Amino acid sequence: MKFQAFFALFLVTSTLFAQEHSHQSSRTLVFPDVPGYKTLKTDLHQHTVFSDGNVWPNIRVMEALRDNLDVISLTEHLEYQPHAADILHPNRNRSYEIALNEAKDHDLLIVHGSEITRQAPMGHSNAIFIADANKLLKDEAEESFAEAKKQDAFVFWNHPAWYAQSPSGNPVLSDFQKVRIKKGELHGIEVINTVDYSEESLALALENNLTIMGTSDIHGLIDWDYVEKGHDRPITLVFAKERSIESLKEALFAGRTVAVFNSLLVGKEENLVPLLNASLKFENAKYINNTSILEITLKNVTSSDLIFENQMPYTFYSSSPVFKVPAGGTKTLRIKTLEKLVDLPIRLKALGAYTAPKEHPIVTWNVKLKE
Ligand SMILES: [Zn+2]
Ligand SMILES: [Zn+2]
Repeated sequence: MKFQAFFALFLVTSTLFAQEHSHQSSRTLVFPDVPGYKTLKTDLHQHTVFSDGNVWPNIRVMEALRDNLDVISLTEHLEYQPHAADILHPNRNRSYEIALNEAKDHDLLIVHGSEITRQAPMGHSNAIFIADANKLLKDEAEESFAEAKKQDAFVFWNHPAWYAQSPSGNPVLSDFQKVRIKKGELHGIEVINTVDYSEESLALALENNLTIMGTSDIHGLIDWDYVEKGHDRPITLVFAKERSIESLKEALFAGRTVAVFNSLLVGKEENLVPLLNASLKFENAKYINNTSILEITLKNVTSSDLIFENQMPYTFYSSSPVFKVPAGGTKTLRIKTLEKLVDLPIRLKALGAYTAPKEHPIVTWNVKLKE
C-alpha cells in the first residue's frame, strides 16, 4: 500500500515535471541547416518588466521554447525604466540572470544584451554579448558605445526607420552612426523590426557592410502581438559553425544572417541562396504516361510559405508560373520538358526573398530524374 502510494506520488510528480519542462506548440519555427553551418533561430531584441515590457523574463524563455528558437536576448532599455518605482533594480543585469536561470534546464541559449536608448539622431541600438550592462549606463551615447566595444559586444542599430524618430519612415544615417561604423562600434542593422520591413534599411546594410537583422522587439506577449494576428514573430537566422554563443557571435560579426518575417526572407545572396536550396526537397518525379510532361512534387521543409516564379526555359502544364509552396507542405508541378530528361536544373526566382531592395535571388536545384 505504502509502495503504491509512493509510486502514485512519483507518477504525479514526474508528470508535473514533464509538463513544466515541455513547451510544445503548433507554431514551431523550422529552418534547415545549410552546408557547413547550423541554422540558429534567434530573436535578439526583446523587453520585459525590467524596462518597458509587460512580462517577467521567464515568460520570454517559455515563449521562445514554444516557437522552437535556439537563442534569445533580453535587451532592456538601460535608460528608460518606467517600472522603476515598483521594480527597483540597481543591477541592470537582473533580466539576463533570471532568464539564464529559467533556461538552464532547457535547450535555449541566452545572450546578455542591453538597448542603448537615445533620441534621434543617435536612436536606439542593442549591444549583445556584453559582460556587464551596468557599465554601459553613461551620460553620453558615445561613451556607452565605447564601453560596449571594450566589452567586445556586437552592436546593431534598432528600428532605424521608426517614424517616431524619423518622420519620413526612412532611416537617416547620421554622422553619429558614420563615426560608430568607422570606429568599429556598430556592426549590424535591423531591416525588420516588429512588422516593419524597411528596404531603405536594407540598402544601408549593404552600403555599410552591416549585418542584416530581424527582431520582434516584443513588449507584450508574442501570442497577442503576432500569433493571434496571423503572424510568426520576426527572427534572424544565423549560420553558425556550432550551436554555441561563441559561434553565434562569430557568425554575426561575419554577417551570416537572413532576417525572416512570415514569408519574407531578407539576406545577402551568399546566405539566402544556400538557405533556399536546403528549403525545398523534390519527390516523386515521373513522366506522365507517354508524354514529355514531368510531374514532380516540391516539399517545403521550412515554416515559411515560399513563393517562386519559373525561370526555366520550360513552361508549366496546369499551373501559373508564379506559385506558392506552403510552409511544411507540397506543390506538384507539371513541367513540359519537350523530351525525356535524365537531369533537370530546376531554376526558380524566390519572390518572397530579397538580396537587395527589389532584387530576388534565383535558385537552381539539379534534380536527377530516373529513367
Ligand atoms: Zn528601441
Ligand atoms: Zn526595443
